[in-house]
Amino acid sequence: MNPLSSLDTPAQRLAALRGQLALSGVQACLIPTADPHLSEYLPEHWMARAWLSGFDGSAGSLLVTADFAGLWTDSRYWVQAEAQLQGSGIALMRAGAHDVPDMLGWASEHLKPGARVAVDGRVLDRAAALRWQAGLEAAGVALVLDQDPVDAIWAERPGLPTAPVFEHLPPHACRTRADNLAAVRAAMLAHGAQHHLLSSLDDICWLLNLRGSDVDYNPVFLAHALLDAQQLRLYVAPGKVPDALATRLAADGVVLRDYAGLAADLAGLPAGTGLLVDPARVTAGTLAHAPQVRLIEAINPSQLCKSVKNAAEADNIRAAMAQDGAALCEFFAWFEAAQAAGERITEIDVDTHLSAARARRPGFVSLSFATIAGFNANGAMPHYRATDTHHAVVRGDGLLLIDSGGQYLGGTTDITRVVPVGTPSAAQRADYTAVLQAHIALARAQFPEDTPSSVLDALARTPLWRRGLDYGHGTGHGVGYFLNVHEGPQSISVRAQGRAHQDMKAGMLTSNEPGLYRDGQWGIRIENLVLAVPALQTAFGTFLAFETVTLCPIDTRCVVRELLSADELDWLNGYHEQVRAGLLPLVDSAARDWLLARTEPL
Ligand code: ZN
Ligand code: ZN
Repeated sequence: MNPLSSLDTPAQRLAALRGQLALSGVQACLIPTADPHLSEYLPEHWMARAWLSGFDGSAGSLLVTADFAGLWTDSRYWVQAEAQLQGSGIALMRAGAHDVPDMLGWASEHLKPGARVAVDGRVLDRAAALRWQAGLEAAGVALVLDQDPVDAIWAERPGLPTAPVFEHLPPHACRTRADNLAAVRAAMLAHGAQHHLLSSLDDICWLLNLRGSDVDYNPVFLAHALLDAQQLRLYVAPGKVPDALATRLAADGVVLRDYAGLAADLAGLPAGTGLLVDPARVTAGTLAHAPQVRLIEAINPSQLCKSVKNAAEADNIRAAMAQDGAALCEFFAWFEAAQAAGERITEIDVDTHLSAARARRPGFVSLSFATIAGFNANGAMPHYRATDTHHAVVRGDGLLLIDSGGQYLGGTTDITRVVPVGTPSAAQRADYTAVLQAHIALARAQFPEDTPSSVLDALARTPLWRRGLDYGHGTGHGVGYFLNVHEGPQSISVRAQGRAHQDMKAGMLTSNEPGLYRDGQWGIRIENLVLAVPALQTAFGTFLAFETVTLCPIDTRCVVRELLSADELDWLNGYHEQVRAGLLPLVDSAARDWLLARTEPL
C-alpha cells in the first residue's frame, strides 16, 4: 500500500508536509490560494490550501512551520473556517482583525534569521513575491520560490482540466482578433517592449476571441500567451483546440504550443529583450524562466481595452440583460405563487429554480458565480452560500436576499434583489429604503469623464452616512463581456483609492451594489449593472452618466415612500417603466402578470 494515500485528514496531511519541510531543509511553507494564471476560480489541481487544511472557502493562505500552522482569511470566511479547521491543528488567523498580524508580519517576527520559507513560485504573483522577499530579507529570512513541498505529498493530486476551447463568434463577438492583436501590439511597442507575456485567462480569451470551460463560472481556458510583433504563441494543452479552429488562429498569426512549453520559450528569448508584463497578473515562478530579459512592468493593455465596451457590445449586453430579467420574472412569479400556496421553500430551492429559469433563456451558457440566496440572518453575510447541510427555510417574516448572475454569449450579468417574505418589520423597511436611496444616488450620478472610480463610492454611501449607516464592501466592480464577472481596472471602492488606471471612461460596465448588513439579523443589497455613457459636453469637458442596463423590478413593497425625495421617486418609477417595456415582449402567463404587478408606479 502506498503510505501517501493514507493521508485522509488535514492533521495527517499537515504532519506529512512537516516531514517534507524537514527533508527539504526549509523552516516554513507558505501556501497561497492561486494558480499560475492568478485566477479567481481555481482548477482542483491548484487547490492545495483546501486539500491541506480542509477549509474550502475561496480566499485564504496557509503558513506552516514545524510547530505552528495558521490559516489567514478575511471576515467573510471566519465562521466557515472556524468550523472546517476543527481538529486540524491549524489556527484560524482572522485577517483584518486589529490584534492579528498579517502573514508576512507574523513570519518576520517568528522565524529565526537564517530560516528559509518555501512557496510555490508558480502561483505567487510577481508583486507579492517582491513584497515577501523584501519583508523577509529585513528579518534575515530567505524566500525559496522553486520548491513545492505540497506536490511531494499529494499523491492523488487531480490533473488539469481538459475542456475544449471554442471561438466567440459574431454577432456576439464584436471585435476581430486582428484588431485586438493590433491594439495590444501598438501598446507593447509604445512601452518599448519587443515581447509581451500574458498569463491571465480573461486577457488571453478577450485578445483571441476564444472561450473555454476549464473552471467554474468564468468561461476561460488554461493558457499562457507570448506575443511579439509577428506572432502570438498560445500555450495550451494538446487536443484542446479543435483543428479547424487552429487553422483559423494560424491565419491571424497565432501559433499553438504545448502548455508546458512556455518555460523553454521564455528561456530562449534574446538577452536584454524588452518583455512587457503586468506584475499583478504574472507569477514569479513563470518569470523565473526568463532572467535574461529586461522586464517592462505595466498594466496589461488588454485590461484597458476590454473594460471599455463598444457600441455593438453594449447592444448585445442590453439584449442579454433583457433575457436575464425575463428569467428573473419567471423565477419570482414561481416564488411568490409557491409562497402563497404555503410550499416549503429553502434557500437551495431558490438557487435551483432561478438557475433553471436562466438556463431556459437563449444565449445562456452558465452561471457567472455561485448564487447567493440568504434569508434574514444569512443575508447579513455578503458572501453567504447555502449548502446541502447548512441552509435556511424561507418562511415567517423577513427579507430574502438573492445575488445571482449568468454568462450569456452576448454578455455577463450580476444582479441582487431583496424581497419581502411575510411581513417585514418597520426597521427592515427603513433599511431597505436607505439602501435604495444609495443605489439611486449612484445611478443618477453625473461626473467628469476620467473621474477616479473610487471617488464615486462616496456618492452611493451619502444617504447611508447621513443616517450613521455604512457597509463593508466596495460599491461597484467592473464586469466582463461574456467573461469574468469581476474585472478591472475600474473599481467603485475606497480600496481603489490612489490606484492607477481606475478612471471611469465612457463604455465601462460596472456594478452599482450598495448594501446594509445587520449581523445575525438581516442583510440588504440592491445591485444593477450600469454602463458609463456621455451625458453632457460643456466648457468644463465631457460629463458621463450611468445607463442602468439591468432590467428587473426593484421590489417596492419594502419602500417607505415618504422617505424618498421627488427625484428618487421619479427615478424608481422611470426605471420600472423601462423594465416593463423591455421585458414585456419576453415573458408570458404568470411571469407577465408578475412583471406588470411589480412595475406598477409607486
Ligand atoms: Zn452580485
Ligand atoms: Zn456584483
